[in-house]
Amino acid sequence: MGKEIEIQKRLESIDRRSAVCTVSGGLDSAVAAALMARAGFKLHFIFFDWGQKTYEKELGCAQALSKHFGASLKVVEVPLLKSLPGVSLTQSETLTTAVNEYVPNRNAILESQAIAYAEYLRAGAVCIGSTGGDHICPDNSPKFVEAMQRLIEEGTLIKPSIQIVAPLIQTDKIGAVRLGLELGVPFELTWSCHNNSDIACGRCSNCKSRLEAFQRNGSVDPINYAK
Ligand SMILES: [Zn+2]
Repeated sequence: MGKEIEIQKRLESIDRRSAVCTVSGGLDSAVAAALMARAGFKLHFIFFDWGQKTYEKELGCAQALSKHFGASLKVVEVPLLKSLPGVSLTQSETLTTAVNEYVPNRNAILESQAIAYAEYLRAGAVCIGSTGGDHICPDNSPKFVEAMQRLIEEGTLIKPSIQIVAPLIQTDKIGAVRLGLELGVPFELTWSCHNNSDIACGRCSNCKSRLEAFQRNGSVDPINYAK
């Protein structure tokens, strides 16, 4: 009986207006976080060190964004992904297509850790920055998000279950930039280029889609690009 009361108390203490946001230092996760902030959630950022080539730059952006949003920031190392030689996005070659940029089962690994952190914090939601589109990487798809929700419901203790929220899953990069412009997201504090940490290459798939998204919104990306 004592134990039941203890669990009940723990469930009642869940803060439904608190969310863990996975942040990459990129544009999409910054816009998703801004949407959660506007909805009134207290934000806890989680950033992953999984061997990405532009880690230092992305971490700097995540730190700057956490200050901007008044969010805490937890940095988590993912040794397995770091230890796999030949994984794309950790290599030195210039990448130009999204299909080259898949990392084995990355989002399931990262989001599982965000879910664990949310359960520890008794947060009500985990927010991810996945956008709609072709979903060349299957771990960004709406079906994948649904599967992660089922995993939470089957595998975590606190009820009602933590909600996995992908507020941009029905929009594309152009829509994400439009929302970000409306919300006043500080895009100068975000980084998308997979190749460089100082001046964006303008050639990788991320640079291309980002540049196009600003252009289609009649706006100019505030970060610097190689000529
Ligand atoms: Zn680039």
